[in-house]
Amino acid sequence: MAHLTLSDPPTQRKRAAHWTNDHGTGFTNPWPSAKGPPALSHVAKFSWQGMHIQKPEVKDPHAFLPMQKPDFTPPTEGVKATWLGHACVLAQFATDGGKNSINVLFDPVFSDRCGPGGYLGPKRYTAVPCGGVEGLPEIDVVAISHNHYDHLDRSTLSEIFAKQKRTPALVASLNTWRVLDGISPKAKQVYREADWWETIEGRHQRRGLWAGWAVQGDAGSVYFAGDTGYAAVETETYEIDPAVPVCPAFKEIGERFGGFDLAFLPIGAYAPRWFLSTVHCAPIDTVRLFQDVRAKKAMAIHWGTWDLSHEQLSEPATMLAEARDVVGLTKEQFDVVDLGASISSVPAAAAATARVPEAQAQAQEQEPKQAEAEAELERAVA
Ligand SMILES: [Zn+2]
Repeated sequence: MAHLTLSDPPTQRKRAAHWTNDHGTGFTNPWPSAKGPPALSHVAKFSWQGMHIQKPEVKDPHAFLPMQKPDFTPPTEGVKATWLGHACVLAQFATDGGKNSINVLFDPVFSDRCGPGGYLGPKRYTAVPCGGVEGLPEIDVVAISHNHYDHLDRSTLSEIFAKQKRTPALVASLNTWRVLDGISPKAKQVYREADWWETIEGRHQRRGLWAGWAVQGDAGSVYFAGDTGYAAVETETYEIDPAVPVCPAFKEIGERFGGFDLAFLPIGAYAPRWFLSTVHCAPIDTVRLFQDVRAKKAMAIHWGTWDLSHEQLSEPATMLAEARDVVGLTKEQFDVVDLGASISSVPAAAAATARVPEAQAQAQEQEPKQAEAEAELERAVA
């Protein structure tokens, strides 16, 4: 029995600017900031150059990226987010004064290798902080950003459906079912896919939940960016060039949703820039994306797990610090965190004082609050 009941998908979708056919099965990036798919010769050049780069930090990754056991205790208020390696984040939305939380898991990939069948592809150089699927709390929604191996892992998803006591809802982008089919007999009943800007509504008791990438609720709002480029450049530049067009979607996301309490933004797998800037942000891109989506606070993701590109393993963290200074953000606003660590939408001082009324609230448990823990989760932009 599914924990959440999801609304029906739209009966008909209209062809949009990012569709390449009338069926919603082929897509293109419509923004002036993007380049087309890479030529085979470029892929070969990228791979060849990468073979000659030494990564000495791989021997002791915890020297630059410590790991801790995650604490999945529900937050008493606001939203708590825990980084589980690479792009995987668990966002917990406070409900019932901290007795429960609505748990949204983004892009869980716990396999050792990032590639087909679990045998090919880069091997992870840091472990899964919660140990694996058995270390997770009960999940309400699993949200997948796209079907690349570092974001969608069939074996992790199969395990989630097999081991969770209640079946989570599963949401992904249009035309993703073809790679999810067969992960679990339960999956199809709880699966919904969405096009850009589409909304999926879910019901859990009195609570409403819409599934996707931008999550808005009484407890707060989050934005999960998944993989994205921001501005495609031709050279190994890490400077802001006003002449290079940037992706306009992020400003639109900021405007439509009115900003976010927390954002989970990618900072790694960006070098070489001539090849990867169209699909992955370097920190100088991510800090501007942070501003465009009007995030109050962000956690850096998409680094520290697999060696997918040419930059040194710790470089995204040092580059983020430099990029923050360029645009005038603070460490408190946007930083890297340890593997398994959490951030909260509620400032630490406010959370400490909130514990006093919480104790009173527990004493008055006879009068359950009528407040609806409504949350909406909307798919934004890839
Ligand atoms: Zn990725």
